[in-house]
Amino acid sequence: MAEAPVKEKREPAGMDADAAQTERELTDGFHLVIDALKLNGINTIYGVPGIPITDLGRMAQAAGMRVISFRHEQNAGNAAAIAGFLTKSPGICLTVSAPGFLNGLTALANATSNCFPMILISGSSEREIVDLQQGDYEEMDQLAMAKPLCKAAFRVLHATDIGIGVARAIRAAVSGRPGGVYLDLPAKLFAQVIDAEAGTRSLVKVIDPAPAQLPAPAAVKRALDVLKTAKRPLIILGKGAAYAQADEAIRALVEKSGIPFLPMSMAKGLLPDTHPQCAGAARSTVLKDSDVVMLIGARLNWLLSHGKGKTWGEPGSKKFIQIDIEPREMDSNVEIAAPLVGDIGSCVSALLAGIEGKWPAPSADWIDVVKMRKEANIAKMAPRLMKNSAPMDFHNALGALRTVIKERPDTILVNEGANTLDLARGIIDMYQPRKRLDVGTWGIMGIGMGFAVGAAVETGKRVLAVEGDSAFGFSGMEVETICRYGLPVCVVVFNNNGIYRGTDVNPAGAADVATTVFVKDARYEKLMEAFGGVGVRVTTPDELGRAVAEALNSGKPTLVNAVIDPAAGSESGNIGKLNPQSVVGKK
Ligand code: ADP
Ligand code: MG
Repeated sequence: MAEAPVKEKREPAGMDADAAQTERELTDGFHLVIDALKLNGINTIYGVPGIPITDLGRMAQAAGMRVISFRHEQNAGNAAAIAGFLTKSPGICLTVSAPGFLNGLTALANATSNCFPMILISGSSEREIVDLQQGDYEEMDQLAMAKPLCKAAFRVLHATDIGIGVARAIRAAVSGRPGGVYLDLPAKLFAQVIDAEAGTRSLVKVIDPAPAQLPAPAAVKRALDVLKTAKRPLIILGKGAAYAQADEAIRALVEKSGIPFLPMSMAKGLLPDTHPQCAGAARSTVLKDSDVVMLIGARLNWLLSHGKGKTWGEPGSKKFIQIDIEPREMDSNVEIAAPLVGDIGSCVSALLAGIEGKWPAPSADWIDVVKMRKEANIAKMAPRLMKNSAPMDFHNALGALRTVIKERPDTILVNEGANTLDLARGIIDMYQPRKRLDVGTWGIMGIGMGFAVGAAVETGKRVLAVEGDSAFGFSGMEVETICRYGLPVCVVVFNNNGIYRGTDVNPAGAADVATTVFVKDARYEKLMEAFGGVGVRVTTPDELGRAVAEALNSGKPTLVNAVIDPAAGSESGNIGKLNPQSVVGKK
């Protein structure tokens, strides 16, 4: 339905006086974009206003949409991306041309690499001038630049094509393997006026945008046959499994099979980390010693050491079953003995039906080995999490946050940093699906405040963002956005005065501090206070736990500056091996 059509008296050239008096209902590009989104159930836009989309934001708000304005497009894009992950409907990011578009593009590329559905809509300059490179305001061939960095890219030149353009963007974002889509809308398009009725007719409501994809019966049988041979099976749950929202079927598969499961970072909570079958605390053992591994919505990329090498034990010691919607994912790194291509809900249901209750039990030895390893690791870690020291280290600070989350399991945890990320992933138990949002496939910094805002807006739940001081810097200005919209977000900055550590010294002995060092004892909490939120500085785990509990209970925008021992961190956290170090001529 066309929303609030423009009523206008027009006098087209060559018409006689009578005809000129007739009132026609008109619409334009602005209205059609809004109508097309709303028709498809999209009611929220994340963006930054400016030329040529300022009025689009205003009019969307007037039409009852939620329009969340950010301070930087990358953060708006990250909010849209996580909205897509949480809802299975594409998150919308709206930006201005050239520089705004480029800022949003990072988030679009990141969404695509993570398989999150989002649509970046950017205004652009005049095609005729851009194509002749005649030097327009913010001239840039945005469509060409976006194409290699996302799943699909479209441009709309005529108002009558807006409906189709939006429909194609939606379908491309959510069908098959989800991802980022770019929609290029040149400035001229917004002001194009057409007959309102023709406009309404041109809109498309996308029917079944992400159709179920059923696995072939032969593929299901093959997977079950491989599973039946297993003595030491393992299920790995990835963020695709969390995205699929097939929570009940996945739980049934895990529990009926009795197979230990290992959640990837953003799949934590699909089943509680405290579940007796959770092998999170025995990660190296289960990866190395398993004989059949079933991957559900997880890729064998760098995060799983590509399925080979020391991590995975003897070469040829295991068989893989992989459930994924993307056929080309199969054999990407190692041979997949049983590829199961389809959507996770359908595949898992087919496995459950195929086995008819007769699950081959994993060997008792295997269950014992996993249990003992897990208990030993948990016991070893426990005292470090409970120590009450000032300044804090990463372990006892995270130990305090772990309790806060345990007591409030529906809190959404956003997490980025180096040590702050790697240690939080292991220490903070999750209890519910899609409650842990982090740096994902690329392991990037900068998602923090965008994800926090997106998660709070989409779910209405409390959000706890646990941030390294370096990571926080990439999106920190959005604390103003959090305060402006009064969002229930508590940001904890793990402040160790620098990147990895705050203790490095300039090897040249010059006045500049080392490249990885920040201002000592910075007062991050005052940033939140500047915009009317609550700021707290804490130095002990007890104080930290209390401050965060209070923030989450009250729902007030809060920043907790958690003072961490500057000497506590290690280089690049757990992935130090990826950071090459010179052995030549180092002082
Ligand atoms: P993780 O980093 O948690 O291991 P990845 O992002 O590597 O997870 O893998 C997610 C996988 O899930 C991708 O290969 C993607 O194609 C797949 N996927 C996403 N949604 C679905 C779905 N609904 N059904 C099946 N597979 C899906
Ligand atoms: Mg730091």
